[in-house]
Amino acid sequence: MQRSIPRVLALVIALTTVAIRPIPAEAGKLQVVASTSTLAYFAKQIGGDLIDVGFIAGGNRDLHYIEVLPSYMLKLRKADVYLTIGLELDMWSAPLVDGSRNSRLHVINCAGDIVPMEVPQFKADARYGDLHRFGNPHYWVDPDNVPAICGTITKAFSTGDPQHAGAYEAGRDAYLARLQVRKAMWDSLKPQMADVRFISYHNTWPYFCRYFGCKSVGFVEEFAGVSPSPSHLAALIDRIRAEKIPIVAYEPFHDKRIPEMLAEKTGCRAIMLPSSTGGAPGTDTYEDLIDTIVRTLLAATKGT
Ligand SMILES: [Zn+2]
Repeated sequence: MQRSIPRVLALVIALTTVAIRPIPAEAGKLQVVASTSTLAYFAKQIGGDLIDVGFIAGGNRDLHYIEVLPSYMLKLRKADVYLTIGLELDMWSAPLVDGSRNSRLHVINCAGDIVPMEVPQFKADARYGDLHRFGNPHYWVDPDNVPAICGTITKAFSTGDPQHAGAYEAGRDAYLARLQVRKAMWDSLKPQMADVRFISYHNTWPYFCRYFGCKSVGFVEEFAGVSPSPSHLAALIDRIRAEKIPIVAYEPFHDKRIPEMLAEKTGCRAIMLPSSTGGAPGTDTYEDLIDTIVRTLLAATKGT
């Protein structure tokens, strides 16, 4: 599992981020791999036909836990740029980069211009889970963070392929303009979203809730990445009943039997929320992903 990655390797990756060398113009399209489907989507909006882009983890995968496979290393062997989420979410990227033996690979940390939420104020030990040690890494589900993510990607493409820098910047600007139209629609739903309260399986939604004003009030996991004990579940059941919490949300890769048990015992609703593009039908774009999350939460809150 990713927890054994040496610190020195993480440092090497961090340093690689600032040591971008231009890619020769004759090399053709910029070859891009993203650690996640959502980053690949952003990259395609910016790079368009100037890039080929693929990803490692699809929308139905738990991004904290991706197995290190030789086929992923092969994908990176031919790549020019590798986009990562950072904040230790995709720590499995380090052995993939190492195993790719691709000295030309530019590894980009897309959290570079993100202000992380929930940075621990104390040194967490394993009892409290060790998945969010540098702050909550699920930042892409906040539409207000997309300009920073796209800015980092654009800078990476422009540095690696300077002759097309203008085109990458135009691609970014056009995408952010399209996103702005959707944000106006999402903003009109904020008054309804302010009434949404839910318990989530994992602590995935603080950035989303900050944007929309909804409330993620508790977690099925006892701590990030730590399975619930019977006493934790008993306390959750009491709390859902006492506070009339209407929703328990899980993601496509979680064991839905626990949310369904909670729903059965309390009368709340267990719903699936995708957190990455492609994680549910109709979520192939970031805009449709956010729409789906909003619509699902509003429908479950209203009981429809
Ligand atoms: Zn997490």
